[in-house]
Formats: sequence, C-alpha cells, structure tokens
Amino acid sequence: MDTMPSLLKTYFGFSDFRCYQKDVIEKIIERRDCLVVMATGSGKSLCYQIPPLVVKKTGIVVSPLISLMQDQVMALKERGIKAEYLGSAQKDSTVHSKAERGQFDILFMTPERACTIPNSFWSNLLKSGISLFAVDEAHCISEWGHDFRVEYKHLDKLREVLLDVPFVGLTATATDKVRFDIINSLKMNNPYVMVGSFDRGNLFYGVKPFNRGQSFIDELVREISKEVASGGSTIVYCTTIKDVEQIYKSLAEAGIEAGMYHGQMNGKAREESHRLFVRDELQIMVATIAFGMGIDKPNIRQVIHYGCPKSLESYYQESGRCGRDGIESVCWLYYSRSGFAKGEFYCGDLKTENQRRAVMESLLAAERYCVLTTCRRKFLLEYFGEKFSADRCGNCDNCKILRKERDLSREAFLLMACIHSCRGRWGLNMPIDVLRGSRAKKILDARFDILPLHGLGKSYPANWWKALGHQLISQGYLKEIVTDVYKTVSVSSKGEQFLASFTPDHQPTLVLLLTAEMLG
Ligand code: ADP
Ligand code: ZN
Repeated sequence: MDTMPSLLKTYFGFSDFRCYQKDVIEKIIERRDCLVVMATGSGKSLCYQIPPLVVKKTGIVVSPLISLMQDQVMALKERGIKAEYLGSAQKDSTVHSKAERGQFDILFMTPERACTIPNSFWSNLLKSGISLFAVDEAHCISEWGHDFRVEYKHLDKLREVLLDVPFVGLTATATDKVRFDIINSLKMNNPYVMVGSFDRGNLFYGVKPFNRGQSFIDELVREISKEVASGGSTIVYCTTIKDVEQIYKSLAEAGIEAGMYHGQMNGKAREESHRLFVRDELQIMVATIAFGMGIDKPNIRQVIHYGCPKSLESYYQESGRCGRDGIESVCWLYYSRSGFAKGEFYCGDLKTENQRRAVMESLLAAERYCVLTTCRRKFLLEYFGEKFSADRCGNCDNCKILRKERDLSREAFLLMACIHSCRGRWGLNMPIDVLRGSRAKKILDARFDILPLHGLGKSYPANWWKALGHQLISQGYLKEIVTDVYKTVSVSSKGEQFLASFTPDHQPTLVLLLTAEMLG
C-alpha cells in the first residue's frame, strides 16, 4: 500500500497535509463516519480524494452542480486520478457500466442521481468495494442552512444500502443546528466531527454605505478597473438580476470585459460564463448568489457585495470564495440604508411565524455587521460561535482606518430621551423624525409634535441620527426587538441609567465613533 504522504506528493505535489486532513483521512480509512466543518479554502476536498487512492476502492462524492463536478473531474484527471461523474440526464451508459465494475478512483454524482440509481448498481459496486460516500456542501441537507436543497434529504435512503461504507459530510457552514441536521439526516453513526477555525486571516473585510444610482456604479467600475489592471480576479455579487445587468452594462461601456451569471440565463450560457471565469479567460464576474457554490478557483482577489446579503452565513461563504490560495485578498460590502428592512420582501412566501422570524433575525445580524464600528472579523467569528480573543484583528476597515471619536453624550441623550418619549413602540425612524421636527401626518396623529424634544435635533440629517442609533444599539444603550414582521427600538436598562445620570449640573461623557455616514 502506498503511504499517504507519497500519494500526496505524487498526485497533488504537496509535501505536507494540513493538520486536520491527516486525522480525517485516517478515520475514513478506519471506516468511521466523519463530519468536516471547515472554512472555504481549507482543503476539504483532499479528505475524500486521498482515501480512495490509499485503499484502492472507488470513492463516491455527491456534489450539487454538474459544472462543479466537471471542473473537479477535469482537474483530477490532469493529476492522473481516474475520475468521472454521473449527471442526471446525459447518456453516460459507458461511465455507468465502468463505474459499476469499480474502475474509477472517484465517482461524482448529483444527489438526484445517487437516489435514483438502481440498487443493482450499488450491489455490483460493493463487490469491488466502496472506500467512502462523501456528501459535499452537506449544509444543503438542512432546512436551517442558507441553501436547502430538497434532493439532499433523500440521501438517507442510501444508508441502508451502503451499510458499512463510511459517510463523510463536508461543509463550510458552521452553526450547531446545521451540524446536527447533517449528522441526523445522513444517519451517521458516532461520527468523527472535525470543526476547524473559521478565521480567514488573509481576507480583509470592509463595509461602505452607498446611494443607489449611476454615479455610485461609475465609482465601482473605477475600483474594479484598478483590480483588472493589477491582474486579479473579482466577483461582484448583486442582490437582484437588474443590478447584475446594470453593472455588467456599465463595465462594458467602460471597456471592461466581464462575465455575467444569474438564474434567468439558460443553463448553457451560465456554464459558459462559469467556465470562462474559472479558467481565467474572464477576470470579472457579475452575478447573483446563484453563482459560485464550491467554485474551485484559488486566485480570486476580491469579492464585492453590491447590496446587503440576506444572512451572515451566506455572506461569509460568498466572500470566502476569495483568497483560497492564502494570498491577501479583499471583501468589500456596499450597503444602502434603503436596502434594509426588506424583511417582508424576503418573508413573502414563508408560511410559519418561526420561518419569518428566522429570516428577520438573519437580516438583522447582517444589518448589524454593516453598521458595526468595532472589529468586523471578531464580530463574524463570534457570530459563528468561535472565540476571537483580541479586540482588533488589524485587517478590517474598522481596525485599519484612523478612528475619529467625539463626546456625543448630548446627542445620545436627545435620541434616547426621544425614543423613551415615543414609548419604544417604533423603529428608529419615528423618533428621529420627531427630533428633526417633522410634521408628517403620522407624527401629528400620535401627537408627538407637542413633545418638548420635537425639533431639537434639526442640526443633523436623519442618516446621522441613524448611525448614532446603531452605535447605541451595539453598545447596549438601546435594544432592538424583532418580531416576524417589524422591529422596535427601546431604551435598555443601561440606557435608562445613562438618562438618569444626566442632571442640570452633571453631564456624563459618552465617547462614540464618528462613522462614515456621520462625517458625511
Ligand atoms: P475547500 O473544499 O475546503 O474549500 P479545497 O479543497 O478546494 O478547499 O482546497 C483549497 C486550496 O488549498 C486548493 O487550491 C488546494 O489545492 C489547496 N490545498 C489543499 N490541501 C493542501 C495541502 N495539504 N497543502 C497545500 N495546499 C493544499
Ligand atoms: Zn478587525
């Protein structure tokens, strides 16, 4: 039997395993079920690529997309590994019959195919032996994941057919619920669970507010053209197909060649776009999130989000597609305030209150990330349940950019007192309109125009007050309560204490950051 290190060198040209890879591979060879939860780019594929070569039996890998399997098969063949895939609808009877006789090292298939292939296929293949049954992007099995696919649910049927075959789930999605669901859905037996750090030290995280419109797109195009000049690849993720088309058009007008990818393009056009980008024939890809699951492209230098993503899980996965080769890369997120509070939009076809609530909570977390004034990496990692002991990472906008701070106790007092007077039954907009002296109907109806605070905050624009409100929320002076359809902001007990400490002869200080919005 070839040793693992020699196989790694011969087929992949690497001299060492990453520390967790060896453990997982050994467990698979001992025929133990495994769950591998690791950040994108950490090298999970090797965990299912090596065991078939060691034990010289076919490894089955379930993967969600044909284009992804094609790329993987091509790359493995180039390395001299016998790999093939079984799609859902093509005429692949020769592959099928060779596969059945155990003639491949690695055989990819879609989940649909895995569930519908006749049992005789499995019993024939079992005669030559199956080294593992791997489920890539395993979070698709969980309704708690951000990318649930119903076909994945039926994979459990195979557990009874492939009794002694080790099942291996691989994902970059970190939450406990998803992990638990994968283990249960695949009926894993005492699995070896390997959860790695999610920190991607080589990625810079930054967030900027923007105003929708052509002038911002022009600015974005200028930013992208710098990246093109330096030779790096970029993905621009948009929240709508309309945005994809608009940015694509503006890039074209500026003479920058880009690819486009979204759900309304036909399959052929999408595959072509994907192929050109992955093979470095196109440097820029403008896409909706339909693009990218498992893209194995190591040299993406920049991922830009044009609009706030619907959850931090999806943001982390999408932004994590850059810098897989470990080289410094950047993730910029542009958000527009008007893009927030679209909960109803995302919740539209969700039936139960719990589902709507889960969506609202995800949106809220993403929104918090946008308006954060502290370290973004720390926030992200802690959101995924990982401790980050330092306060600053040194590689995000908030850690890098010179901080401008000021005592904003008077302004904080005004906003909190106004929220208190409005009895905490609203979001931030109502109390801010009151402070700014609005005489809109909703204000007159609620008789907020007679409050002593009405009009005291005219000197700052609404966005300035909102930015202040968000800082007060993140520091615990205000608390946000989310229901399935709306959210309210009220004064917390910490905020009440602050208000009480304000007397005619004493003003506490409250030093806060002047954010981009506050500086105008
Ligand atoms: P994941 O599936 O976890 O997102 P991949 O398996 O695609 O990650 O691997 C990411 C990159 O790391 C690839 O370019 C791969 O070649 C490289 N890689 C994986 N394992 C090793 C290793 N042991 N030594 C060096 N590079 C590795
Ligand atoms: Zn930081």
